[in-house]
Amino acid sequence: MAIPFVPRIDDAPYAEITQVSPLIQRVIAKNPSKFSYHGTGTYILGTNDVVVIDPGPKLDSHRDALRVALDGRNVVGIVVTHCHSDHSPLTEWLYGETGATRYAVGPHRVYAGFVEEDDHDASEDDPADAVESDEEKETTDLAFSPDAAVIDGEKFLSTKEFALTAVATPGHTSNHLCVSMDAEGALFTGDHVMGWSTTIVSPPDGDMRQYMDSMRKVIVRDDRILWPTHGGPVTDPQPFLIAYHEHRLERERQIVVQIANGNNTIPGIVKVLYAAIDKKLHRPARRSVWSHLRKLVDDGVVATDDGGEPRLLGSYHLVG
Ligand SMILES: [Zn+2]
Repeated sequence: MAIPFVPRIDDAPYAEITQVSPLIQRVIAKNPSKFSYHGTGTYILGTNDVVVIDPGPKLDSHRDALRVALDGRNVVGIVVTHCHSDHSPLTEWLYGETGATRYAVGPHRVYAGFVEEDDHDASEDDPADAVESDEEKETTDLAFSPDAAVIDGEKFLSTKEFALTAVATPGHTSNHLCVSMDAEGALFTGDHVMGWSTTIVSPPDGDMRQYMDSMRKVIVRDDRILWPTHGGPVTDPQPFLIAYHEHRLERERQIVVQIANGNNTIPGIVKVLYAAIDKKLHRPARRSVWSHLRKLVDDGVVATDDGGEPRLLGSYHLVG
């Protein structure tokens, strides 16, 4: 099932304030990349008393744009969906300017139990790949810590115009938070659901089992619109989310089929399942397959050949 990605609306020039709904403005940071698409979308909610969701990366142009956007307004809260470096770092500046309470699930925490292995194989890589290593994983903002740790389902902030409720969605990171806004039936999805691509679920930041659980959590909600950090809004959430979830289940089934056919290593599986995508993305793809395999081993569907932890360079077989 193809995911019905919607045409982007974020072609607005960088560092400009765009009113995207009666109560929501968006400012796009100039940090385009293979992870952030056109760039990070920082949301400003409200008219006079405003809440900022994901201040964004440390970029002077973005900071200056936010300064203009927030001039003369009262920032009553700063919400951080998670601590990847394109989301939270400017919080420190904005907090210094406003003293507004910083809300999040908590600081960044990696999932335990992953053994890192260097899977770089110079013999099979494009020379261009050698310089890619820094970009293969999203970097994290370990300095961030909230003033107020929100809990799932908590209505944590209200203004005269709207109230915000926490929807904890671990998986992309352990502290990932979506935020619902009652006044417009809107869900700010951070990187849990993106408007242009599937989400990266990569160890040790990400966990596929939790991610799938968190997908089901947003599917059963009745939000009218989703506002991802990257890409345009999703105006018909239900079919989109179902397809988004189904895409993962399909990938899981494909991995099981590969292992059943004797293609039982992660690099081998990626070569087949990701044959159509840019080779530069194959190493991040291995991490995604690794994440799926951890879940499949946990489910008892697949086992490691050596009986140990699921490893990036390990081999696998079906159980039973
Ligand atoms: Zn992220």
